[in-house]
Amino acid sequence: MDRRDDDDRRRANDAGKGAISRAKGAPNRREGRLTIQAVAGDSEGAERMRSLASVRRAREREREKRKGGVQEQARVAREVVIPDVITVGELANRMATRGVEIIKFLMRQGVMLKINDVIDNDTAELVATEFGHTVKRVSEADVEEGFIGAEDIDDHLEPRPPVVTVMGHVDHGKTSLLDALRSTDVVSGEHGGITQHIGAYQVRLENGQAVTFLDTPGHAAFSAMRMRGANATDIVILVVAADDGVMPQTVEAINHARAAGAPIIVAINKIDKPGADPTRVINELLQHEIVVESLGGDTQAVEVSATEKMGLTDLVEAVLLQAEVLDLKANPDRTADGMVIESKLDKGRGAVATVLVKRGTLKRGDIVVAGPNFGRVRALLNERGEQLSEAGPSVPVEILGLDGTPDPGEPFAVVENEARARELTEYRVRVKREKVGSPVQGASLADMMAKLADKKVSELPVIIKADVQGSAEAIVGSLDKMGTDEVRARIILSGAGAISESDVMLAKGAGAPILGFNVRASKQARDLAEREGVEIRYYAIIYDLLDDIKGVLSGMLAPIQRETFLGNAEVLQAFDITKVGRVAGCRVTEGVVRKGARVRIVRDGVVILELGVLKTLKRFKDEVNEVPSGQECGMAFEGFQDIKAGDTIECFNLEEVKRSL
Ligand code: GDP
Ligand code: MG
Repeated sequence: MDRRDDDDRRRANDAGKGAISRAKGAPNRREGRLTIQAVAGDSEGAERMRSLASVRRAREREREKRKGGVQEQARVAREVVIPDVITVGELANRMATRGVEIIKFLMRQGVMLKINDVIDNDTAELVATEFGHTVKRVSEADVEEGFIGAEDIDDHLEPRPPVVTVMGHVDHGKTSLLDALRSTDVVSGEHGGITQHIGAYQVRLENGQAVTFLDTPGHAAFSAMRMRGANATDIVILVVAADDGVMPQTVEAINHARAAGAPIIVAINKIDKPGADPTRVINELLQHEIVVESLGGDTQAVEVSATEKMGLTDLVEAVLLQAEVLDLKANPDRTADGMVIESKLDKGRGAVATVLVKRGTLKRGDIVVAGPNFGRVRALLNERGEQLSEAGPSVPVEILGLDGTPDPGEPFAVVENEARARELTEYRVRVKREKVGSPVQGASLADMMAKLADKKVSELPVIIKADVQGSAEAIVGSLDKMGTDEVRARIILSGAGAISESDVMLAKGAGAPILGFNVRASKQARDLAEREGVEIRYYAIIYDLLDDIKGVLSGMLAPIQRETFLGNAEVLQAFDITKVGRVAGCRVTEGVVRKGARVRIVRDGVVILELGVLKTLKRFKDEVNEVPSGQECGMAFEGFQDIKAGDTIECFNLEEVKRSL
């Protein structure tokens, strides 16, 4: 992708240079031009004739050159500082040139921009070097430096619990297994067990060890999120139902685990069922290069039943064994960083994010930055709803106090003070806004040229609100994939939480419908939407939503125009008739010509009218609908009066064919 962009840019660059050298070459060609006088041999006369005008022109040229020369002298090669994005005007300032010079230059490259338009750093560099300056690129992105601290040194490291993700085909028992595994927690008996869903939980064992489990949604459309789950993961438990065997999502899970470099432990589930056949599962896994220990491989496989709570301790044993092999360690004595697992807006509590600490210890009062959000940690809660004062490596906790809902998978880190947090988040918000909203996004030469060459893209603006950030993200991901070169959904806003009045206002402004996934609109928002005529659609199933949008996008696809050839005619004579206009006397040479059909008019091999309409068709004095080959007729065309003898008329039908995505 990147490489391709580079190539494009280079090509654009080369094209630019070509254009320039051609422009320079142009006057040379002119010198050798043949003139009538030169051919006539009247060279003396030509000399005299030319002198007045050419002296004036020569003077003009001289003046031009002098002006240019002065400029040349004044034009110091500067070092132009170029940030990530810059307006044409600002670039001109920094180059000490007039904005129009740059605009003219860009125009020669086929890019039409105004003084206040934003261009990217590559384009800016191209411009500056073409004008003879040197370039120093600075990046705002420098503020990101040091956000996630350096690697820890070996001797600070202490063992940490493994982080485990359960994956597998739908209905193979992921949820049931996660529920069952909770019961292996020794503390829950005394403390009333796990009370709330926070996207992750930790199970503590009798020997004092612990295992962290990440809850991952099972739906296929959530694979984007699940992939992240695997990346935060040390070990993957692959659930395969013994009565069903390896299924498509099982294979997908294997691939995700491999991509994340996480070892797999196979949990052969539902062994309590009559149709259970663990051997079959093991054999099917062989096809995907998973060789279990009983066949001499190194993948552990455990037979379990989530509903009957069989084999659970064996499974946990297997996890701990694998963890020991992995030798998982982290430094608890440093500022914390890690990853966001889930985030949502809660009515009473505000933004709530579940984070997994990877290293360091997260404490109440820390200032945390996660994606474009930050805040002072007001409270740390575990899966039992208990307040914690701190959370160490591999501990999942809910944190309160962020100013928004960061995306799942977003890294988080504690920063030294609020100023640093602001600096980081303001930069990130700006980047995000520029990426999403800006009308001149990606204004690199290559992009712009591609866009100019293309037909215009039609966009369907939408606003997406979902119950959790992860769903919103999955929807956005799927919608992005759905887009083509011609039609696509433009996401004005996507986020977690109920549909609010401000969402409705935004929708109104953008002419967008609001799609609610597992959320509802507040009463005020509903009333406002009704008043303002904003459409709100609710969905509980992600595929329904995607299907709907697909339907709308298909409707937006411009229909294909299919041309069917009818016949050709040749213009023998053209004459003007009062009231009718210019009429062509023709002979049909091929096929038929039909009144009302489309015509293309060709003169000397050049199309001079692309899409005309045959308005009148006459045979002798009568209006007719059709004239066959070999016969003569009179024709008049809608809005076209320039017909001449010798023109060829191509007559065809045009029908529109609907398309779908
Ligand atoms: P998921 O889609 O992978 O999360 O699967 P679920 O945990 O929702 O389970 C799907 C169905 O299989 C539910 O009806 C469970 O009751 C059932 N199920 C899960 N584990 C077992 C098991 O070990 N034995 C039996 N007999 N049924 C199970
Ligand atoms: Mg489930």
